[in-house]
Amino acid sequence: MKKEMHCESCLMPIKTRDDLITVWAFFKVRPYHRACYANSLKGAATLFVSNQPINGFSGNFTAFVAFILAWIPLFTDVTWGLTVVCVLIVLMRLYSFIRFEKQLPL
Ligand SMILES: [Zn+2]
Repeated sequence: MKKEMHCESCLMPIKTRDDLITVWAFFKVRPYHRACYANSLKGAATLFVSNQPINGFSGNFTAFVAFILAWIPLFTDVTWGLTVVCVLIVLMRLYSFIRFEKQLPL
């Protein structure tokens, strides 16, 4: 049995993966409708929200770049802090996929 997923903005269930936007906000990955993301997150919450969707093209691209950058300290003098930050970004992308996106039909 699948747990219903509710939008953090309007509290209505999110039905399809296409309608889902996951965002890192208040130290948690949160699900929103595409429309609710566009409407509410551009408003007052902006101060506390990164406003960058984790899923979708930009999120995939960011995770891909982070995955590549994570290897740089292995071969250069660049600080290992880069690897730590990049691995966190990739893990957050995976978490969003497993926790939210995978649960919804396409
Ligand atoms: Zn909503």
